[in-house]
Amino acid sequence: MGCKRCPLWKPATGTVFGEGPANARVLVVGEQPGDAEDLSGHPFVGPSGKLFDRALEELGIERSRLYVTNAVKHFKFERRGKARLHKSPNAGEQRACRLWLEGELARIRPDIVVCLGAIAARNIFGPAFRVTRQRGTWQTLADGTRAFATVHPSAVLRQRGDEARHAAWRAFVADLALLLDA
Ligand code: SF4
Repeated sequence: MGCKRCPLWKPATGTVFGEGPANARVLVVGEQPGDAEDLSGHPFVGPSGKLFDRALEELGIERSRLYVTNAVKHFKFERRGKARLHKSPNAGEQRACRLWLEGELARIRPDIVVCLGAIAARNIFGPAFRVTRQRGTWQTLADGTRAFATVHPSAVLRQRGDEARHAAWRAFVADLALLLDA
């Protein structure tokens, strides 16, 4: 909770670690906490988290059975007036935080890892992984764990226009549907 391995701890409210049962079969990795997560101390409770919850609900998957975390445990942002705008963690920050994600993976020992977005996917699959090309396809990690990636739910929310947003939503749900056969 008092980690200072990179500069992100300073402006943030606190660390946001993963949550979920210790015996979860599925571990979900996002990018980093957002504004709501930073203030509440819980992962995936902001707009992206709510969209993720909706997708799980549509598929009949209980979120309480998943362990949900982020690749980076502090919120990185820039101030714009009263707003705190999300900024992506850089490679050094991701590297510094990597040991916490490794710790969570070692503790939970999931059967399946789901990566939401490019930062999560590169942390799990390596720098050559491309979500745009490889999303929604099963991969096998070095230790035999099965894993797949899809977009971060914020990418669905960022789409302009109802049609594009709906298409992105359907593709997101279709990727997560891989969990139904796992
Ligand atoms: S982002 Fe990660 S490595 Fe950096 S201070 Fe926070 S917990 Fe530590």
